[in-house]
Amino acid sequence: MRCHRCRAPANVEIRRSRTAYCARCYPDWFRAEVQERIDHERMFRRDQRVLVAVSGGKDSLGLWHVLTRLGYRADGMYIRLGIADYSRRSQEKSEAFAAKHGLNLHQVDLEQDHGFVVPDLLDTRSGKPCAACGTVKRYHFNKVAADLGYDVVATGHNLDDEAATLFGNVVHWNTDYLGRQGPVLESTHPRLVRKVKPLYRFSERETAAYAIIERIDYILEECPMARGAKSLAYKHMLNTLEEQQPGAKYHFLVGFLKQGRNSVQSGGFDQASDLRECARCGQPTTGQLCAYCRMADRGRMKAAIKDAKYGHQPVATTEVPTKRASPGSPRSTARGVALDD
Ligand code: SF4
Ligand code: ZN
Repeated sequence: MRCHRCRAPANVEIRRSRTAYCARCYPDWFRAEVQERIDHERMFRRDQRVLVAVSGGKDSLGLWHVLTRLGYRADGMYIRLGIADYSRRSQEKSEAFAAKHGLNLHQVDLEQDHGFVVPDLLDTRSGKPCAACGTVKRYHFNKVAADLGYDVVATGHNLDDEAATLFGNVVHWNTDYLGRQGPVLESTHPRLVRKVKPLYRFSERETAAYAIIERIDYILEECPMARGAKSLAYKHMLNTLEEQQPGAKYHFLVGFLKQGRNSVQSGGFDQASDLRECARCGQPTTGQLCAYCRMADRGRMKAAIKDAKYGHQPVATTEVPTKRASPGSPRSTARGVALDD
């Protein structure tokens, strides 16, 4: 195949559109497509501040790279989840990327600042902490964005992630989640920042190709907790379908967003409404204590039991010394600012 733009031998094939690009033209095509999505979905404007949720992987670092190359004011944020070596390596990749490009990376350290780590949050039925981990991430990305005045939180969810989520929600007929699935989640409260997913139409292959061609040093391994997760099974099924029908994943997701979502829409493409402030942390919630504060209590309790049984074993996630500050105020980390609860 030849490059769609310059006719040189192609390196990356876009199977859903039956086109291909050489390594020189591909990054420009990729960035132009992201720009088109940002504009088309009205995700954010050039004068707005974007907080990129960074995990050290190809999607989030690729997104951060794209946004800065497109001229957006985008800072990063990393959460030290305390998942042993995986967290240490992903933190290193995130910090190295920020340092190389002279970017600002905010960090929250669960163990130091909140007294528990994600492995303390295992669900007794599934044996996995992923649902709780999702709550942790949503809470801190949103809280830091709200506290520091960002206009929008951008995540690196790609087509494979979104199609797998859609598939899971269809399998279980989670109509509430189906109604909220989309590339933009509007704010319904001054402390709930807008969420956007600029890479939602790019496959994992395409985001990986961008990261490789742009020489982004990202973490290759998956989180060890992901093993056996339902989302991986859904991705595997969709990949099998994609092998036989190129473009199936894309049409499944984009077709749903264009045609199917309206018929299952429950409360609009918004975050929850009817909100009040959490009695402990002040973040918006529907109950007296927010889901995060309730979950953090359980995590701290499990961490205390573990410490009593085995003695305190700090999770080696950082060599960067940090300094505690009074609750609610920013504190300095290696590069940027982290916030206490
Ligand atoms: Fe968190 Fe589960 Fe993802 Fe690991 S696999 S980062 S525990 S959500
Ligand atoms: Zn709370």
